[in-house]
Amino acid sequence: MNATLENPATFADELAALVSPAAILKRAEPMAKHTTLRVGGPADVYIEPANEKDLSAILKGCRERGVNFFILGRGSNLVVRDGGFRGVVICLASPEFARIEIDGTRIRAGAGAKQKSVAVEAKRNGLSGVEFLEGIPGSIGGALRMNAGAMGSETFNAVESVRVMDYFGVARELKRSEMAVEYRCCAFLKSHIALGAVFQCSPQPREEIEKRMKIYNEKRWRSQPAAPSAGCLFKNPSTIGAGRLIDELGLKNTKIGGARISQEHGNFLVNDGGATAKDVLELIELLRAKVMAERGVELHSEVEVIGEPA
Ligand SMILES: Cc1cc2nc3c(=O)[nH]c(=O)nc-3n(C[C@H](O)[C@H](O)[C@H](O)COP(=O)(O)OP(=O)(O)OC[C@H]3O[C@@H](n4cnc5c(N)ncnc54)[C@H](O)[C@@H]3O)c2cc1C
Repeated sequence: MNATLENPATFADELAALVSPAAILKRAEPMAKHTTLRVGGPADVYIEPANEKDLSAILKGCRERGVNFFILGRGSNLVVRDGGFRGVVICLASPEFARIEIDGTRIRAGAGAKQKSVAVEAKRNGLSGVEFLEGIPGSIGGALRMNAGAMGSETFNAVESVRVMDYFGVARELKRSEMAVEYRCCAFLKSHIALGAVFQCSPQPREEIEKRMKIYNEKRWRSQPAAPSAGCLFKNPSTIGAGRLIDELGLKNTKIGGARISQEHGNFLVNDGGATAKDVLELIELLRAKVMAERGVELHSEVEVIGEPA
């Protein structure tokens, strides 16, 4: 029996007793507040552990009671269904997990640090190698799990080591070479939590780094909508970009409820205001069906979908 389904309030109290007073714990927290697409029903329990000890205690609590948990970054690659998440959503957003430290040409960044903050801090210290993180609206934990990339580079190109915690609450440091990564995925982090990473950068004049970041930024905003979204919806098929395919089929601006395919970029679904996860998921299915019917191409989702229907 899942304890959170039986009695979320009791389980939230049990968790509160396990963690330090600095941890943040909320019940029935709307996930729409924690996703860039701004949709998603409530999580039974939402918790921001203050430190690794808290995180370990939460994992132990969930394990002992058989309760589901989900590790949330900044929710920029995520659709949470309208019924919300049954279990505990753990978010490493506390200051302890968001630290960014410079040590020579290395940057140690916590999983909760914003990707943009790491890029900006690197630039400030004349360190090149993570400029591409500038426009990605996620956390370092999300960047590691997704091997996020842009402008011809990806996260693990710059990673030297990753600090991880297993689901028994034991932390250790792994070298880059010990982690198998592929396009937009680090499978190891499907069963481990990233606590932070060390990035190896190279020294460069600040102006050069700044110039590059400006070019990246302009390029991004020329092609990307500003409205709330979850980034690219679909992985690119081997033969054609998903955005171009959707454009060629005249599917831009297709709408269901408050969810719409962006006019600026065919692979972006935007929330025009008031979209539900149901609108979003129906629109995704509509696109997949039309692309399959008209081009025989199967589109695979890049965004993760969690939670229960309303
Ligand atoms: C406007 C926009 C532009 C985008 N542009 C890009 C782009 O250029 N390139 C790109 O690659 N992506 C892009 N994305 C997608 C998204 O920002 C990235 O995938 C990002 O790395 C996700 O980070 P997050 O913290 O938001 O993760 P979330 O969406 O919160 O979570 C994503 C996955 O990572 C897991 N996760 C999060 N933190 C941890 C952790 N500490 N340990 C283990 N697993 C964890 C979650 O469980 C989930 O499975 C874009 C999104 C938007 C909205």
